[in-house]
Amino acid sequence: MSGTPEGPAPTADLVRSAVTESHHGTSDGVPTAVRPPTGAPPAAGPGPSPGAPPVPSPGTSGAAFAAAPLAMAVVDREGLISAANDSLGALLGAAPDAFAGRIAADLVDLSSDARTWHAYREVLRGRQARLRCTRRIKHPDGHSLWVQVTVSPLPGEEAVLLSVADISSRRELQARLRHLQMHDPVTRLPNRTLFFERLTAALEAAAYEESGTGRIGLCYLDLDGFKAVNDTLGHRVGDRLLAAVAERLTRCADQAGYARTATPLVARLGGDEFALLVDDSTGTDQLAELAEAVLDALQAPFDLAGQRMSLSASIGVVERRAAGTSATGLMQAADTTLYWAKADGKARWTLFDPERNAHRMTRQALASTLRPAVDRGEFALEYQPLVSMEDGGVRGVEALVRWNHPQFGVLTPNRFIGLAEEDGSIVQLGRWVLVTACRQARRWQLDHPDLPPIFVSVNVAVRQVWDSDLVADVAQTLAETGLAPQLLQLELTESAVMGSAGRPLQALQALSDMGVGIAIDDFGTGYSNLAYLSRLPVSVLKLDGSFVRGFQYESRDAAEADARSNPADAVIVEALIQLAHRLGLSVTAECVETSAQATRLRGIGCDTGQGWLYSRPVAPDRISELIGRPGVQAPAGNP
Ligand code: C2E
Ligand code: MG
Ligand code: MG
Repeated sequence: MSGTPEGPAPTADLVRSAVTESHHGTSDGVPTAVRPPTGAPPAAGPGPSPGAPPVPSPGTSGAAFAAAPLAMAVVDREGLISAANDSLGALLGAAPDAFAGRIAADLVDLSSDARTWHAYREVLRGRQARLRCTRRIKHPDGHSLWVQVTVSPLPGEEAVLLSVADISSRRELQARLRHLQMHDPVTRLPNRTLFFERLTAALEAAAYEESGTGRIGLCYLDLDGFKAVNDTLGHRVGDRLLAAVAERLTRCADQAGYARTATPLVARLGGDEFALLVDDSTGTDQLAELAEAVLDALQAPFDLAGQRMSLSASIGVVERRAAGTSATGLMQAADTTLYWAKADGKARWTLFDPERNAHRMTRQALASTLRPAVDRGEFALEYQPLVSMEDGGVRGVEALVRWNHPQFGVLTPNRFIGLAEEDGSIVQLGRWVLVTACRQARRWQLDHPDLPPIFVSVNVAVRQVWDSDLVADVAQTLAETGLAPQLLQLELTESAVMGSAGRPLQALQALSDMGVGIAIDDFGTGYSNLAYLSRLPVSVLKLDGSFVRGFQYESRDAAEADARSNPADAVIVEALIQLAHRLGLSVTAECVETSAQATRLRGIGCDTGQGWLYSRPVAPDRISELIGRPGVQAPAGNP
């Protein structure tokens, strides 16, 4: 290696770089024979000399030039070499004389990119002080050389000095260092740094190139229970296992790449985490197939120096358009999905689900905006008819709360009631629901003075019973709205009243004594202890929708309907209803969706029905229209 090259460290894939230093000199002569770019590959070595005599180099300076360890040539204003020293000859594998008259730009490839070519011409013309660039050239014996080329004016001469420093070993060393920096020593796979570099490059390329699919896919893999291997068998066995896993993953990637132009990139992201990156992916199917193949490949036991062990992995799979995707965004999605795969039971792959993700994110956002939302009046009530099974008339309605969220739109209670219970805002929200529903029930009553009034059923969360004076709230609300206690029903879940003693039981008793109805909501999903319930002041059982679902098949032929639905459900429900009746409770069936279900429920003695068959939850005006109608759903003939 000759000379001491300077400048920024080039990267491994940088084939050529031009560093031009703009210092404007003066020039009057415009070279004519510099030769425009030819596009021909650069070739070192001697070529035909067009007969231009080499510039004689007299005296000591000439001797110094000839003997200098740095490869140099004097180039005239036309761009032709007039003299070359021994080092240049040695570097490029020819006698120094053989270079005379040759086009300097061809020798070290100065014409293949426009910027360098322009800068070179400017130096030749004396308008620029210096040009420096890195080039890869071919030695006549076939091997490649990395050289740093400098072109600078020779003071007082109509010529420039071209110097060529061999930086091949430095480049090689840099490449080797980079490889070390970018690869994991245990598995020899690309490491996290290289993975992110490739990912970023792939995203950029996909966004600009039109040739590919414009998509990107990622399998983010974590070994299940790897920590235990490390802890019990030691790090050496752990490392061996990781290397063996890496090998299998690489094989999977190779096989996946067979049919395609590109093989997925396999990387170790750290610990027991690996990633397979698929550039230009074709859709989720492709990634699912890859994930499946990986799980398959890891299934066979590992033989590690006499230790035989089995292993499984969890994989988060993300596949999406590259446009609008950032490396961090993709990794976050993959991380979340991997977490789901673990939470769903490990040893599986899971596909990213935007809805599940939105749910996770909005839970956070909802929790923080819940409290002020009550004050801001962002909640509204819908009402769903409770219909007499006997004549199809509306007897009451259940009040169901909705949140008109400014950001997420209308939210159903399943999204926020749990949160409201957690942070205690259910007390304030519940009070608002109670007052609003009672006021509305009274409004209907006043609007339809000639018709029997309908009752309103209000859901009450456990925490409302414990953390607020529910009895006082109800009494005050009834007094303020003028609603009769018999027109209010409170719905509590089984779990809220089971084991009730002390305060909740006293509250229930006081409410019942007031004349307010108590219903057990979603009955059948919890303890289903009817004997116990009968001792509480409960008047209504609301059978959970899961019972009714067993009655789903519609058929004119009752025998066929029996055969296709779950007969056990019918038997259980019938027994439940009979028992409830004997204990003095009336029964409401939830989620009645078909007339076949209604017919059968009526047949086994159910008193009231609620569900889409009669009406979805609707605004108060709509209920006004339904009140007093002969039958929301005219009762069909006997089953
Ligand atoms: P829930 O009390 O069991 O209310 C019945 C739920 O079933 C309602 O869902 C209703 O829209 C739905 N539903 C009605 N008919 C059908 C049907 O035919 N098929 C099906 N598949 N579903 C039907 P919604 O409105 O989403 O309410 C969900 C739960 O949120 C309620 O279940 C109740 O536990 C709770 N909730 C609603 N409003 C309030 C409230 O003001 N306070 C409290 N604490 N909880 C409430
Ligand atoms: Mg309810
Ligand atoms: Mg219910």
